[in-house]
Amino acid sequence: MVIIRAKQLVTALNMPWRYSDEVAVINDAAVVIRDGVIIDVGTWEEIKRRHPHANIWDFGDNLITPGLVDPHTHLLFAGSREDELERKLQGESYEEITRKGGGIYKTVKYTKETSDQELLNILQKRIQIATSFGTTTVEVKTGYGLDIDQELRLARILKSVKSPIDVVTTFLVHIPPPAGRENYVKEVLKAIPYAGTTYVDVFCDSIAFNVEETRTILKKAAEAGYKLRLHADELEYIGCSDLVEELPIDSADHLLNTPPENVRKIAKSGTVATLLPVTILTLRTSKKPPVDEMRRLRVPIAIGTDFSPNSWSLNMQTAIELAVYLLGLTPLEALIAATANAAYSLRLTDRGIIQPGKIADLVIWDVPNYHWLAYEIGRNKAKLVLKRGEPLRFL
Ligand SMILES: [Zn+2]
Repeated sequence: MVIIRAKQLVTALNMPWRYSDEVAVINDAAVVIRDGVIIDVGTWEEIKRRHPHANIWDFGDNLITPGLVDPHTHLLFAGSREDELERKLQGESYEEITRKGGGIYKTVKYTKETSDQELLNILQKRIQIATSFGTTTVEVKTGYGLDIDQELRLARILKSVKSPIDVVTTFLVHIPPPAGRENYVKEVLKAIPYAGTTYVDVFCDSIAFNVEETRTILKKAAEAGYKLRLHADELEYIGCSDLVEELPIDSADHLLNTPPENVRKIAKSGTVATLLPVTILTLRTSKKPPVDEMRRLRVPIAIGTDFSPNSWSLNMQTAIELAVYLLGLTPLEALIAATANAAYSLRLTDRGIIQPGKIADLVIWDVPNYHWLAYEIGRNKAKLVLKRGEPLRFL
């Protein structure tokens, strides 16, 4: 049994956390951990009295929060696309680059040419980097196969990963291959029962799958027992976010072009809005998700990195910083979006908040309070990352 003392402890008190719900901010706080599980939380004075014989880890100058959860990544691919950055700056859009055979098609080619073992090594290295920034659970999608055998291969690799943190697996139906969409959708429908991931996700958008195709795929996935996620309204609004009314979608992600009236549909459905501010930066778009309307209707907001070849950041701290400075979330909202609500976006209710009975995924930060997490940009502020009570990273 160990007591961790901290200058400040911050956690949501319920999942999902909706705007204006209560939050715990405890100064001179302590958490008690036994066998990887949180067993007590309170002020240092209370905890000391209740557990007089426990070991003490004194982080009296530091902030402690739940471990960060990254609910949206594309970590499993080979190669990179740094050469496209100049093209983007010259005004070529993501859609144009993709149509000319760059973008995703280039990544698909590299990934296909890379062995299972090499891909596994790449994946493990990326997870390690994410962990160093405070991520203790990560969702990872397939999606760079684009033919069904390749996609199933990626799903297999994903399921075989040995990782110090928890990996939630998603089979992503990403983009129609050049060979033709109709046939691909048919193949996807046949293959879904064999993917073996926790989630199925579809990129529903102008350059990807339309609403009808998305509906068919997600329906089939739900019937086969998968949980559902959705890339919705990222590049254009073509009706994708409307699908939350019809299907049990745990998380609708991006939402850059979501009309304000659709926020009501999301609010009613119980779907989490997962916002990806790093991608807003790398797309160089002026579009923003309707955060004010989401607050007003109390939609639970999560944030993620959306790590991909087009948007290269494994750092959830960057997502927190940009959620504040770019999207206008408060530092507290951004922290909860990266912890309690990100966990809830994956329907993992055993983590993301600091409460007795939850697993001891925690980060001790080299900052004195939660404001500082968003306030300071660009430094890795994670001092100690704990996964089920075990240290993963010391600064
Ligand atoms: Zn994505």
